[in-house]
Amino acid sequence: MTTTVPTFGDFHLPEIVNEPMRNYEPNSIDRAELQKAVDELIGSNPIEVPLIIDGREFKTGSINKQVNPSNHSQVLCTYHEADEAMVDTAIQGALKAKDTWANMPWSERAAIGLKAADLIAHKYRYKLLAATMVGQGKNAWQAEIDAGAEICDFLRFGVKYIQDMYSVQPPRNAPGVWNRTEYRPLEGFVLAVSPFNFTAIAGNLVMTPALVGNVVVWKPSPMAIYSNYLIFKILQEAGVPNGVIQFVPGDAPTVVSTAINRREFASLHFTGSTFVFRSLWKQISNNLDLYRGYPRIVGETGGKNFHFVHPSANPDVVVTQSIRAAFEYQGQKCSALSRLYVPQSMWKNGLKDKLIKTVKDISMGPVNEFKHFMGPVIAKHSYDKIMSLIEEAKKEGGQVLVGGTGDDSVGYFVQPTVIETTDPQSVTMQKEIFGPVITVYAYPDDQIDETCKVLDNTTEYALTGSIFSSDRQELIRVSNMLRNASGMMYYNDKCTGAVVGQQPFGGARASGTNDKAGSMNIFFRFVSPRTIKESFLDPSTYIYPSNE
Ligand code: NAD
Repeated sequence: MTTTVPTFGDFHLPEIVNEPMRNYEPNSIDRAELQKAVDELIGSNPIEVPLIIDGREFKTGSINKQVNPSNHSQVLCTYHEADEAMVDTAIQGALKAKDTWANMPWSERAAIGLKAADLIAHKYRYKLLAATMVGQGKNAWQAEIDAGAEICDFLRFGVKYIQDMYSVQPPRNAPGVWNRTEYRPLEGFVLAVSPFNFTAIAGNLVMTPALVGNVVVWKPSPMAIYSNYLIFKILQEAGVPNGVIQFVPGDAPTVVSTAINRREFASLHFTGSTFVFRSLWKQISNNLDLYRGYPRIVGETGGKNFHFVHPSANPDVVVTQSIRAAFEYQGQKCSALSRLYVPQSMWKNGLKDKLIKTVKDISMGPVNEFKHFMGPVIAKHSYDKIMSLIEEAKKEGGQVLVGGTGDDSVGYFVQPTVIETTDPQSVTMQKEIFGPVITVYAYPDDQIDETCKVLDNTTEYALTGSIFSSDRQELIRVSNMLRNASGMMYYNDKCTGAVVGQQPFGGARASGTNDKAGSMNIFFRFVSPRTIKESFLDPSTYIYPSNE
């Protein structure tokens, strides 16, 4: 039975601001508490993660595991995998939960979102950070950006953006008429398929559609099960009703294809690699005759991001920002710097030496030792892929200036690597590596325009990019030449680090549908507006004046 709670008021949201970042500096309470949470997690036995369908735990007995990438002999959690029948049960349950959730007044759904953010910011901050650090190989600062700040921002700004969207109404009413737009949730269910690299993205893939009244079947990444399970539990505690979000880890093609092959499939909310996204889009296209409507496909995918350094740039800023953009979280951000274009004069006159020297000093190690700037890459397959791309680059004539080696005996550690190439179309200038590797191309100082053309045409991606220049005319000229080379453009700043509410995130070309997570725009993708016209004045005849 649908229970509708009446609302007697046009409620105003609390002020929405970005969640303040905590520093975790030595001797602080935050540092001590986070260290304790991390140590406890590392010292504990593996956690058993069930499927959660209609609020109930299911253990299928088909078990997989998530390991600690800093020390892969440690199993962080085991988890039960859904089969096709369980996915079906999840879909049916979600569809049953839909009416009550969709009919809940917006203020109450908003309250659930805001409460979830506060639970994360306070009660569960250390726990969620520890899960993200140990499970996904982030150091404290990177985990704070993600599971401390960004996820709260997604939830709180999300609520604000929905409020803003709901207030977008037809601008005109003829006399005796009231026009309204109702932002209906989609008909059917949303499938959320999340990546390993951001706990916040996983939460956002689920909550963006849910907050506007959709029900969601969620397939988390096998490499982020534990943090994603915690997110699920927090959302439950915040008041998300049973069935509204169904937590179904499992073999990716099985879970995802089962959901895509259902008539009630209404939308895919995906973040991950371009290859997988394309294959899912094709599957969806093949099913068009099956569906009730045209599914909304929203996906943010790979990147091959660049820093373009103009001869007028400050080389010290270039080194600092390039190191942060390339090597933070071991280059496993979709926005991570991968291609560095520098003028030959600047490269020879100190930039190269300074970059090599600074990279050599980078500290790398297990994330429970807070001093390290870098930790492990996520898994064996990532380690192998990164090492093989470095080898390919060497075979093509690329020169490894620093790094180029790794050690996967205990954890999956790849040294921060700088490759110099004389071929701007070489393999590591083109392919997404998703590891701590940048390739530098030193361009002739008098070939700025030619280099921009090459940059623009080297890869299929267009996610993030930066231009470093102290000459504003040149900055704007280069920016215009690179207008379609990225969905995120930074001036004199690194190409990573978008903040919700400040830099809406997304890329174009093969990098995704560019619906801009962290903006009002994305919420329009998960609603199907209904226009309502009501007439207050009854016509007395069907004859128009012109008929007289
Ligand atoms: P991935 O594509 O391997 O996995 C993403 C999700 O898809 C996971 O849940 C995975 O289990 C699932 N999946 C994998 N194979 C599948 C299949 N055959 N059928 C159905 N589902 C399948 O990506 P990842 O390694 O988790 O994340 C890294 C990738 O994500 C990088 O390419 C990165 O650039 C991208 N990314 C993009 C953004 C962005 O905003 N553009 C943000 C984060 C990550």
